[in-house]
Amino acid sequence: MTPETLVKNQSGSENALSGEPFSREEFDAAVMSTYGRFPIALEKGDLCRVWDAQGKEYLDFVAGIATCTLGHAHPALVAAVTRQIQVLHHVSNLYYIRPQGELAKWLVDHSCADRVFFCNSGAEANEGAIKLARKYAHTVLNIEEPVILTAHASFHGRTLAAITATGQPKYHKNFHPLVPGFHYVPYNDIEALKAAIAELDGSGKRRVAAIILEPLQGEGGVRPGDPSYFQQVRRLCDETGILLMLDEVQIGMGRSGKMWGYENLGIEPDVFTSAKGLGGGIPIGALLCKSFCDVFQPGDHASTFGGNPFACAVALTVCQTLEKDNLVANAADRGEQLRAGLRAIAAKYQEQIIDVRGWGLLSGLELNADIETGAIDIVKAAMTQGLLLVPAGPKVIRFVPPLVVTAAEIDQALIRFEAALESSNRGS
Ligand SMILES: *Cc1c(COP(=O)(O)O)cnc(C)c1O
Repeated sequence: MTPETLVKNQSGSENALSGEPFSREEFDAAVMSTYGRFPIALEKGDLCRVWDAQGKEYLDFVAGIATCTLGHAHPALVAAVTRQIQVLHHVSNLYYIRPQGELAKWLVDHSCADRVFFCNSGAEANEGAIKLARKYAHTVLNIEEPVILTAHASFHGRTLAAITATGQPKYHKNFHPLVPGFHYVPYNDIEALKAAIAELDGSGKRRVAAIILEPLQGEGGVRPGDPSYFQQVRRLCDETGILLMLDEVQIGMGRSGKMWGYENLGIEPDVFTSAKGLGGGIPIGALLCKSFCDVFQPGDHASTFGGNPFACAVALTVCQTLEKDNLVANAADRGEQLRAGLRAIAAKYQEQIIDVRGWGLLSGLELNADIETGAIDIVKAAMTQGLLLVPAGPKVIRFVPPLVVTAAEIDQALIRFEAALESSNRGS
């Protein structure tokens, strides 16, 4: 099949769904139950719409959790996947990989970073950042026991070091002993940060080497960073030599209405990580840094799949499509439209909805904690109305559609969301 015929088939709507009926029982018997799943199976997608096994249509405002930048079956994505798999998909980093170099150059040209290391996920990118910070601490800052600061309510992934970096006790439960060398501070609180540094640096060989922050806390409840806080953190890091590392895994790659989350804060990090939106749904992660802190040498860090021709060629197409189709500006405009609509709904449900916030196409709607209805109840009601949403904690509903979402789709999502609110209120 040529790329052309594939593109044609995917963009048409007559793709047959798989014939076998889907069995939840067989699925649950064979797959570890690490996820609380909604009882539907999605089988087909077209940009911002997906269809389940019964043929019911949904507006996808989850996008694989802020991942499917170009939505589903986007012709450019289909063409890139097809082209690269026909030529060369994986070889290993024993050799030079042209798409890896091209993607790294694109990222360097479109960010404050000078160098890139590729891996496969957000957690793996953050692991790389943690290793980089520790090597920088040992070899440049001469710190014997480096400490990395992270924020309360943060989220940095599910590997052992990443859950340790994650400042939420619920992710630590039953997984002790955690990785040593982390300390938690409140988010957006400069005095608490200064106090923590003073306390840690007064205790012998231990010293703070780096701080890892999300520009906007996504999973922890869609909490935007305060620009004045981040600017003060930047100044503090400049004065002390502490590395400022940002986790851009969810907010980066245009989702915030700017290319990177840090552009909303008026600062540049020394190190940052990317993953979710970078491959448009094809697994890829990246660790990016300025040249002064690129202390890795051959043998220090590696990833078998990291930076393979397939993932990099697809991610490069995602990047080029962002640019060509002005999707970062679309994220800003559609995000404003969505939040204006959500604020109008919030005005009608003042008892129930206490806040609407976010940047670009990462929005959160916070429910009143005194009312019994939780985010999950409304997410379920929205699913019935044909709108996919995802909670960010017990009381916040997250809206993260693909960056190709149209004004008409935002309007339709708002109608379905209000219908979901009404039905969940009638039901309770
Ligand atoms: C999702 C997420 C991660 C983890 O990414 P994985 O690809 O699931 O490992 C890390 N940091 C942030 C901010 C995230 O949103």
